[in-house]
Amino acid sequence: MNKSASLTTLTINYGMSSEKETLNFIEQMVEKDLAEGKKGGVLHTRFPPEPNGYLHIGHAKSICLNFGLAEKYNGQCNLRFDDTNPEKEDTEYVDSIKEDIKWLGYDWADREYYASDYFDQLYGFATQLIKDGKAYIDDRTAEEISKDRGTPTRPGVDSPYRDRPAEESLTIFEEMKAGKHDEGTHVLRAKIDMASPIMQLRDPVIYRIKKASHHRTGDKWCIYPTYDFAHGQSDSIENITHSLCTLEFASHRPLYDWFIKELGIFPSEQTEFARLNLSYTVVSKRKLRELVEGNFVSGWDDPRMPTISGIRRRGYTPDSIKNFASKVGVAKRDGISDVALLEHSVREDLNKKANRVLGVLDPIKLVITNYPEGQTEQLDAVNNPEDENAGKRQIPFSREVYIERGDFMEEPPRKFFRLGPDREVRLKYAYIVKCTGFKKNDAGEIEEVYCEYDPATKSGQDNTGKKVKGTLGWVEANNAVNAEIRLYDRLFKTEDLNTIEDDFKNHLNPESLTTMTNAMVEPSVGKMEVGTQFQFERMGYFIIDRDSSDTKPVINRTVTLRDNWAKKNG
Ligand code: ATP
Ligand code: MG
Repeated sequence: MNKSASLTTLTINYGMSSEKETLNFIEQMVEKDLAEGKKGGVLHTRFPPEPNGYLHIGHAKSICLNFGLAEKYNGQCNLRFDDTNPEKEDTEYVDSIKEDIKWLGYDWADREYYASDYFDQLYGFATQLIKDGKAYIDDRTAEEISKDRGTPTRPGVDSPYRDRPAEESLTIFEEMKAGKHDEGTHVLRAKIDMASPIMQLRDPVIYRIKKASHHRTGDKWCIYPTYDFAHGQSDSIENITHSLCTLEFASHRPLYDWFIKELGIFPSEQTEFARLNLSYTVVSKRKLRELVEGNFVSGWDDPRMPTISGIRRRGYTPDSIKNFASKVGVAKRDGISDVALLEHSVREDLNKKANRVLGVLDPIKLVITNYPEGQTEQLDAVNNPEDENAGKRQIPFSREVYIERGDFMEEPPRKFFRLGPDREVRLKYAYIVKCTGFKKNDAGEIEEVYCEYDPATKSGQDNTGKKVKGTLGWVEANNAVNAEIRLYDRLFKTEDLNTIEDDFKNHLNPESLTTMTNAMVEPSVGKMEVGTQFQFERMGYFIIDRDSSDTKPVINRTVTLRDNWAKKNG
């Protein structure tokens, strides 16, 4: 796999203007088609999810592409549920898909369609083909049919039913529809060419019997069209001009075109682009379902999941995903994109938008022994240095505060600029303090650290000229709010999950979730609503999770501040 290819073939700005833009190959095609007035000189795309799972980051790329093109070229994009597999589909998925697309900021207006709404029309297309001698009923089993399909280098063998009279096929097809035949006894096949070098053209099955209830049509149907017979025709019914799909469908294109030609319907055209693959991530609904059903994660929206609902709960923003899709671009060849770029995109976005607050993940107490007992003062803290309009807030300060356990060392090395015996640091927004001692518990762990502060060094009013090398985050002890903080790491420990031979679940990262239950955060965090995002200074970006209670916030870490992407590429 060629990493750089997928990362450099880029520069599309979905719906956003950019000074000098390089068009990707799909935009080039669209601009040419529009200029030539092809298909009425309009652009009409669709996003066609199958409602058999939650959308993932790969779908987000397809959504940004289809809806983004429609926005950019004044066209329209339909939402079409490709719901032709009754056993696997469910309205739960339909609802989540709509929610996810809306959250990304796209709008299909009143164009919410379902392939199942076209079952009558598709049935009509099928009978038309039978009457034209272009389709026939085959009475053999799936195994028999598949055995006679041949291989790419060996031609297939004609079915003994291939030349049965159209009348007969029509009658059986009607009986199939009426439920008179059992599953597996008959299929309808297009009559194309059993010797074609393109396997898809070797008399593909276009209808099969399935005695299953459908999430929308109930028990009305017991025959269902295959993907190939439903997808392209649905495109035609909706007058889709540009039907964009991933590369694995390239070999289906001749069949797509064949149906359109034989049925004489709207000439939609299919174009393929490379699917999004992401390092340290699986993007396949089937595999993601396995993780959910096997309880490897807490659900489709577990914040470690690459589903849109998972990364939303994790704290990714719509803009960060759109910017990521834009940076990854649209390529003609498969590659693997670096998950660090996705992480970079959310940092870039949150850096501008997220207020800073103070919090301590693993607290130890710091007692400022010369600070008056019983006194509390309010200090000014800047909400966001990147945003002048974000203003300031007040945070309490008193004799006892919490600091991060890792910010104190009993015997610090020379380059450790935080706290140790006799060392001085600044407490952010507050004073310079000097360590005078510490206390250990019976287990030998540091329990409390003692300091003295210098009242003349108050932040913003310090004229002492004193310089210290370290500044620490802290939270005032009396007003601190206890929180549960969930630290997420990548769900997989293997970079390229496309090339592994064994079960992908063997590659799960056992340290993908660390829960900090003793964390202490500043009072303002206790009042934040679910979904509020902020930066704990020096520690990363976080979001309030829906598992929060009235008394205890639950906080997800979206991403740390360490930007490996910028380091490598900046
Ligand atoms: P999965 O393999 O995860 O089940 P799918 O292709 O079967 O995905 P669909 O619901 O059929 O899922 O996909 C809807 C649309 O999203 C299709 O047009 C498909 O090509 C596109 N899509 C799916 N996965 C990706 C991906 N990784 N990158 C880009 N587009 C994708
Ligand atoms: Mg699919």
